[in-house]
Amino acid sequence: MPEFQDPVLLTPGPLTTSYQTKAAMLHDWGSRDGEFVTMNARVRRRLLGIVHAEETHVCVPIQGSGTFAVEATLGTLIPRDGKALILVNGAYGHRMAKILSVIGRDHAILETPEDVANDVAALDAALSGDSAITHVLAVQCETTSGILNPIEAIAQTVARHGRKLLIDAMSAFGALPLDAADVPFEAVMASSNKCLEGVPGLGFAIVERTALEAAAGNAHSLALDLHGQWTAMEGNGQWRFTPPTHVLFALDKALDQFEAEGGQPFRHARYAENCRILIEGMRALGFNPLLSPELQAPIIITFHIPQDPAFVFPNFYDRLRTKGYVIYPGKLTVADSFRIGCIGNLSSDAIRGALRAIDDTLRDMGVRRCAPAPVPQMASS
Ligand SMILES: *Cc1c(COP(=O)(O)O)cnc(C)c1O
Repeated sequence: MPEFQDPVLLTPGPLTTSYQTKAAMLHDWGSRDGEFVTMNARVRRRLLGIVHAEETHVCVPIQGSGTFAVEATLGTLIPRDGKALILVNGAYGHRMAKILSVIGRDHAILETPEDVANDVAALDAALSGDSAITHVLAVQCETTSGILNPIEAIAQTVARHGRKLLIDAMSAFGALPLDAADVPFEAVMASSNKCLEGVPGLGFAIVERTALEAAAGNAHSLALDLHGQWTAMEGNGQWRFTPPTHVLFALDKALDQFEAEGGQPFRHARYAENCRILIEGMRALGFNPLLSPELQAPIIITFHIPQDPAFVFPNFYDRLRTKGYVIYPGKLTVADSFRIGCIGNLSSDAIRGALRAIDDTLRDMGVRRCAPAPVPQMASS
């Protein structure tokens, strides 16, 4: 196996992928080739299996990043005279609202601060108070902060009111538990390059078959029409427009490794261990995580920017990058922060290496105190 000089990506994606996954792309395939068509069907089946939805749902992949799959799913499934209620506690919830504004679907927002989970009681009340709402939109793990939303309680509430649930599970799919039997959903959206550890280039939706059948002609777009994509693929096994062939073969190989690892529970356990070591190590260096443990998903961790004026984030970032570790800036509106991911083809050794590099970097920069400034506090406290 050749040695790569690639940095370790401690980001929300694209992520560090295995050698086998990268090597799977060292070929050329025709999009109508039997080998490609067979593999494509296999990938779609395996993605459905991850959420145990083989009997009720279908998997529709779409070219592009995760947002393309979100826009295609919302535009296809929310009727032109429908109305969505979006549970927002970060940038990805806001992005769904933006999509609905652009494509012209009525919607309302139920917002909590970035360090507070979606409010299920408020959802219950909102659904009681507005019979026009047809769909509820939720983000399972809001990558803005790394917060875990109570997706099972949300799904039960939505189902009790007879409405439909669309879940952005982009940063959770394959790692956090999600089972169609316990969490009734009309659609779940995810992509190739997060917890499945594939390369970027496609998104997909797991959609209730009856809902998709009923959605013919709904979509606002030709290219982002999931119903059109699905019927074409069911017809001849091919994609409507040029498929990302290399991305699909890499995803098929990444799914081999996902299954060999033991599937979702074992991927979850590896990420949880990475997360535990990271938070423990960062605390030992004096950093404070934004979220309390019960709200923290083992995906990406937000830390407060230290109060010490010697800590300058762009400088910290560049020095860590030179040492071979890529972290992520913060995206919070209410606190100065940065983020470190714990997903991707990484073992605890990579996390320990990152902690050593962070320790060295703080020394190089002359940072003494890593605690955040005492004020301002987040809205919840
Ligand atoms: C990554 C991500 C997306 C999609 O982002 P892209 O940059 O389009 O891949 C959507 N929602 C969540 C929660 C995400 O983490």
